[in-house]
Amino acid sequence: MDIILLGPPGAGKGTQAQRLVAEHAMRQLSTGDMLRAAVKAGTPTGLEAKAVMDRGELVSDAIVSALIDAELLAMGPETGAIFDGYPRTADQAAALDGILARHGRQLDHVIELEVDEDALVERITSRVTCENCGHIYSVPVNPPSSAGPVACEVCGSTEYKRRPDDNAETVRTRLGIYRADTAPILPHYEARGIVSRVDGMAAIEDVARAIDVILGLGHS
Ligand code: AMP
Repeated sequence: MDIILLGPPGAGKGTQAQRLVAEHAMRQLSTGDMLRAAVKAGTPTGLEAKAVMDRGELVSDAIVSALIDAELLAMGPETGAIFDGYPRTADQAAALDGILARHGRQLDHVIELEVDEDALVERITSRVTCENCGHIYSVPVNPPSSAGPVACEVCGSTEYKRRPDDNAETVRTRLGIYRADTAPILPHYEARGIVSRVDGMAAIEDVARAIDVILGLGHS
């Protein structure tokens, strides 16, 4: 089963993708994560992408589609893909159709996480990820109090990092781009009857349950 999680930055795509990976043995294909890894490794792609990402703008369609193509090539057909943060433009949606066809795969669901934009800025500016395992937290887990550092619930690490593009100004840019370039790709999938919507402002477990119902996956 291949699915797209769609929604503005901070809607919870990464959190839900991480959960689907852990509970249902799917694979998260996050172009944002791939680009951040390329930036960290100092690859030519990373060097080209860094300034664009820091401004909250979009990296070229060709770069991100090539990243997705390469990941799918390395994946067995039995593992379901969760596209997280891709596609983000009409050209990427068209490219994904071609890539999936070439790999003999098909898209089963597009799930849009609906959110209140004003709440997103707050959510994103308080977002941190575990330095060790990448688990996402939307609350300050390491408050400068006498309580001391809090251990990651997944791996126990006490090291966290903040994304350089998770600041109020960049978030506004990213939200604007989502509205202008990404939301308009929904009709591409609506025409195929595979779009579902979930309230992304609900509690993480409730969003998870709603997604599992859409995907027909059991929930304990
Ligand atoms: P994300 O982690 O999905 O929020 O992505 C972080 C940043 O990486 C975005 O603001 C873009 O600069 C870049 N990026 C990630 N995915 C894409 C994509 N599909 N198309 C273009 N740029 C992307």
